[in-house]
Amino acid sequence: MVRKVSFLCIVALWAGGSVSAGTAQPLRNVILIGWDGAQREHVEQCLARKELPSLQRLIDQGRYVKIDVEGTTDTKAGWTQILTGYYPEVTGVYSNSRFQPVPAGLSIFERLESNFGKDQFVTVAVIGKKQHCGEINPPRKIRLDEEQKDATATKAKKKNKAPADATATAKQGPKKQAKQATTAQPGAGATPQGTIVEENGVKYRVIPGSPYYGMHNALEIWEFGLMADAKVGARSLELLEQYQDKPFFFFVHFAEVDHAGHQHGENSKEYNDALISNDLWTGKIMAKLQELGLADKTHIYVTADHGFNEDGKNHSFAPYVFLATNNRAVSRDGRRQDVAPTIYEAFGVTAASFQPPLDGLSLTRPDHRPAPKLGPAKKAGQAARTAEATRRPDVVFVPTPQAVVDKMLELAKVTKDDVVYDLGCGDGRIVVTAAKKYGCRAYGFDIDPKRVRESLENVETNGVSHLVTIQQQDIFALDLSPASVVTLYLLPSLNVKLIPQLDKLKPGSRIVSHAFDMKGVAPEAVVNVDGDGYGRTVYFWTTPLKKEP
Ligand SMILES: [Zn+2]
Repeated sequence: MVRKVSFLCIVALWAGGSVSAGTAQPLRNVILIGWDGAQREHVEQCLARKELPSLQRLIDQGRYVKIDVEGTTDTKAGWTQILTGYYPEVTGVYSNSRFQPVPAGLSIFERLESNFGKDQFVTVAVIGKKQHCGEINPPRKIRLDEEQKDATATKAKKKNKAPADATATAKQGPKKQAKQATTAQPGAGATPQGTIVEENGVKYRVIPGSPYYGMHNALEIWEFGLMADAKVGARSLELLEQYQDKPFFFFVHFAEVDHAGHQHGENSKEYNDALISNDLWTGKIMAKLQELGLADKTHIYVTADHGFNEDGKNHSFAPYVFLATNNRAVSRDGRRQDVAPTIYEAFGVTAASFQPPLDGLSLTRPDHRPAPKLGPAKKAGQAARTAEATRRPDVVFVPTPQAVVDKMLELAKVTKDDVVYDLGCGDGRIVVTAAKKYGCRAYGFDIDPKRVRESLENVETNGVSHLVTIQQQDIFALDLSPASVVTLYLLPSLNVKLIPQLDKLKPGSRIVSHAFDMKGVAPEAVVNVDGDGYGRTVYFWTTPLKKEP
């Protein structure tokens, strides 16, 4: 019965919505809910296990789309881009360590306040994080010699006194209060940043203001550092009650997923539990809107600033996130900067006149932009290499049937003097078989840490660890010259991409590929094998590769 009623409600709501689709009927309220650090794949796995019923309900009412991140996959870059719709070139916020206050007027909060009028519209931010999202530090210029004195003093003080758990009210006024639930002690534990300048022989450290230093003034409520989802959630429910009579934009930011990821890793139970906690409080917000009679007047957008490195404890290259919403006009996958334009459009705010023009594009509009450049801009050296080593696998892991493995090694005429390289080793079955059957040395490479773990287990179980080495590696960055046999089960395009590396193999080396050929290099043999009831093909080459004219 209950189900029937809610179904009818949804039909009624969206029948109304679809009539005016295209004319962009202005909506009364929007709630943007941040699941900081929620990795797309993990969220999708939770959805599949039915662990996120609230998110599922939202998706059932509307849409789920993939969001790919252009730019640094961290919190400052992320929420700034989401809350403005601009690239860092406009906001000056590139990353957690390279930032400045966002220039006045560019945030969703300021745009909506100025569009609807300060007294007619309510903007609220309730933020879980203490740093990177929420903090509103002014620009600072500290004498280096005094900074050092302070640091010594703080150390001494810390020894004698437990840290205060004071509530600091940073700003007061009839319409405004900015609050940090617990004081983050600047300096203590925080990495010194900024630039050192010298004036008249005195050295100063110049630290830019926080991204939100200016924009937070536009809001009725700006609270941050609440940490726990329960605090963020409960406070949001309170404020919804308080401001239910006026049109509003709420930014509700949950921090527990990101914190759990840093502490316990993306594959941990804690990370998973934190997603469930985000979902629980998202559900309570949805229920509160229902209770206040605002559910059909409010768009909810759930999204993340960045994902998490697969099985990692950081998000150095984590450009895969998502957006779930009850806005059925959302029609495509997009990018972080597309969220703000989508919200403007939902409110009926003409963003076309904004200066500078938004970098994002409403998720309701077709996208003709070139493919996004994912993740942090590649710099020479470390940053690029880290990103490379942790990027997504190019192919989904599909194991090669054992009969095909045997055939591949047989075709390659493997002997105990060979060195076998398996590129994209999956569960390690090729290298394990090569070592067991022929007693040769074998190396398995995979970019996916899960596969590396499985391979290592397989090597261990089969007692061939003295012969087999497994490494987490990007195969396209690999020197293949030590190998005499290379085995592949990738994709046609990837085989072709490997040609320059295969050209460096010693003459007389053998290459076998399961299922895929190598455009431009004719195979010397093509063999059909029955593998798990399906006809499989194995291609065979020797070096030097004979390129087709
Ligand atoms: Zn983080």
